[in-house]
Amino acid sequence: MSSIVVEGRLVDSSFAPRWGQVEIRDGTIRRVGNLGLRPDLKMGEGQLIFPGFVDVHTHLRHGHEHKEDFASACRAALNGGVTCMLDMPNNPVPPVTAKMLADKEAAVADLPMDIGFYVGLGPDTRPSGHRHYKAFMGPSVGSLFFHDDGQLAETVRHYQDCRITFHCEDPEMLRQLADAPSHEQQRPEKAEQQAVSTALKLARRYGFRVHVAHLSQADSLPELMAAAHRSWQDDQGLPGVVWEATPHHLFFDWDNRHQFSRNNFLKMNPPLRSAASRGLLLEAFMRGDIHFLSTDHAPHTVDEKAGENPSGVPLLDTYGAFVSWLMKQGMSAQQMCQHACHWPGLFTARKVGRILPGYRGHLAILDWNSPWTVAAEDLHTKCAWSPFEGVTLPARVAYTVASGRLFRHGVEVN
Ligand SMILES: [Zn+2]
Repeated sequence: MSSIVVEGRLVDSSFAPRWGQVEIRDGTIRRVGNLGLRPDLKMGEGQLIFPGFVDVHTHLRHGHEHKEDFASACRAALNGGVTCMLDMPNNPVPPVTAKMLADKEAAVADLPMDIGFYVGLGPDTRPSGHRHYKAFMGPSVGSLFFHDDGQLAETVRHYQDCRITFHCEDPEMLRQLADAPSHEQQRPEKAEQQAVSTALKLARRYGFRVHVAHLSQADSLPELMAAAHRSWQDDQGLPGVVWEATPHHLFFDWDNRHQFSRNNFLKMNPPLRSAASRGLLLEAFMRGDIHFLSTDHAPHTVDEKAGENPSGVPLLDTYGAFVSWLMKQGMSAQQMCQHACHWPGLFTARKVGRILPGYRGHLAILDWNSPWTVAAEDLHTKCAWSPFEGVTLPARVAYTVASGRLFRHGVEVN
């Protein structure tokens, strides 16, 4: 039976960094503490051992395998210290029933990490007993989006007590602004704020729970926080209303993006915002007012981005390195565990995101002795580029342990 003992500075949402050992057997954490065992992997003072990171918003491109496939996404995730992720349903044929998920679940069964799936929610769908539903309020890939609020209300009223993840951009406002001169002006902050209000209003009326995807501005926070405060907790103890922010909205703004090597590739939905707006979002994240750090990993090939430039950027490879950047801005390791491991772990309802006995045998080890200037050749995502290329991040994930198996920079160590 397989086992591994890792020793070094451990951190969890429930404790600040402290020296100890983790014993993982048969894919599960068995014991944590001063165990007196012979370590298989011993780290130093310059490294920090996190629970594996949990990314609840990725697009793994099932059906678009020239951009990414489950195996390449898994290598990219492990390169970034991500050991559990949830995949969005905007595939060429979106999964909308439990039955349609069967082939996706079979395709990832042998991968060492935890991968879960959202089921699409679109005009006329109904709950299928699944845990995660995704609603696209504006146009997305395929036909899985709503044309107006009436159509949306007619569907979500059937989802009482379910958790629905919303892509919040008001479709009517986007339609009115379709001819604005830039991508950013076509999809302004007001469109997101309007859609957040709509989602919260419907949730109150029909009794479902909300997860706002990729919040890109801070003006919606008072409304979101009031709604979270009023809401019923779910079975994992998370508020009935939760929200996330992405590395790109926290790091890049519209004014400075031309300073980065892949500047015209930094097009996504919702788009980048002004420097002032990004600053407020980052402040909110640092205060702990945003539940999850999620990538919205959305790979497109270099040729596609250089041509038609579809929206979306790939971010799995750099997840852990971006965590180190947030820590350099002042976030403590323990706080970081809350937003990158523990809370998103609760959202998945899997035993992930903690270094505690009984949890899955996942770890991510950040090495502060090796700042990382991100380069395309270091990446495992099939699309082989990153918005962070040329940027030096303060630390890199040296090792990832997934289900008790050891990986260095995304490649298994035997
Ligand atoms: Zn997305």
